[in-house]
Amino acid sequence: MANIKCVGILTSGGDAPGMNAAIRAVTRTAIYNEMEVKGIYRGYKGLLDGEIIPFKTNNVSNIIQQGGTILKTARSTEFRDPEGRRIAYETIQKEKIDALVVIGGDGSLTGARIFAQEYNIPIVGLPGTIDNDLFGTDTTIGYDTALNTIMEAVDKIRDTATSHERLFFIEIMGRDAGFLALNGALAVGAEAAIIPEIWTEVDQLEELIEHGFRKSKNSSIVLVAESEITGGAMGMAERVKKKYPQYDVRVTILGHLQRGGSPTATDRILASRMGAAAIDALMEDQRNVMIGIQNDTIVYVPFSKAIKNDKPINRDLLNTLRILSI
Ligand code: ATP
Repeated sequence: MANIKCVGILTSGGDAPGMNAAIRAVTRTAIYNEMEVKGIYRGYKGLLDGEIIPFKTNNVSNIIQQGGTILKTARSTEFRDPEGRRIAYETIQKEKIDALVVIGGDGSLTGARIFAQEYNIPIVGLPGTIDNDLFGTDTTIGYDTALNTIMEAVDKIRDTATSHERLFFIEIMGRDAGFLALNGALAVGAEAAIIPEIWTEVDQLEELIEHGFRKSKNSSIVLVAESEITGGAMGMAERVKKKYPQYDVRVTILGHLQRGGSPTATDRILASRMGAAAIDALMEDQRNVMIGIQNDTIVYVPFSKAIKNDKPINRDLLNTLRILSI
């Protein structure tokens, strides 16, 4: 068994609901196993600035239900440079931190991988991102909450869309991964989803408008993943308006509200299981792995796999969406 006396924990990159539940689980599992815990504030920036405090069980009381992250999060350009990581390592030595738990998305785990390799530090990652875009795990902490937030918001837009017989393009987060837009579309009964994995099929939208909106529907909802390539919901709406000036086209950009809110039960349970598993992994001498979940079983996914592989989206779901929107 690895001899780890003190674990540092940080959240990095975009915040995601459930990060607090994960912080709580890591902290309490570590203390249960007689380790010290240090909370590192503002992600890797906190490692460079030495913004670190000891965490006891009561530091994580009453946070399981809170969105965001009590440790705050930040993006650190300095940590991308070897010199920045050298300073971060000095902090780790000074604070007597033996291992790190990093909660974040693709970028945060890429940073963790490089840091672990350079300085031979045991690091375990937790997939904390609403985008669900990490390979080797069925889902990520925050994804379910974001999906439910999108569903509630779009249900409300549907009411007004129907009353005014409008065609709504609703922009969803996920510029590199369409999980939120596609599954969100299924959850709200949208007519279509425009996702980054399948840009070439964008013209199917015209088919939808010809056969769906014009023929029988008195409202239509299309979820569009944010994108510089298509111009997102605004870009799609402009294209459609040009071609079909008779339609009452509107755009809503859901924006940051998708990140906030109290985590769902699914995210709280996932974060609690993954947080506890991070400490188990460290005690088993695992390093450079992300905790994942596959078929309801906790798995260890090497960082190299989790961040390098594109997580495939289930293309059959697009067809299901098309069939259900007739
Ligand atoms: P989200 O998926 O929510 O955007 P993320 O973890 O992918 O979250 P990023 O902004 O990509 O967010 O990364 C967070 C931080 O991780 C960066 O600010 C940087 O400090 C560190 N990081 C990212 N990529 C690297 C890299 N190649 N080398 C070193 N550090 C990195």
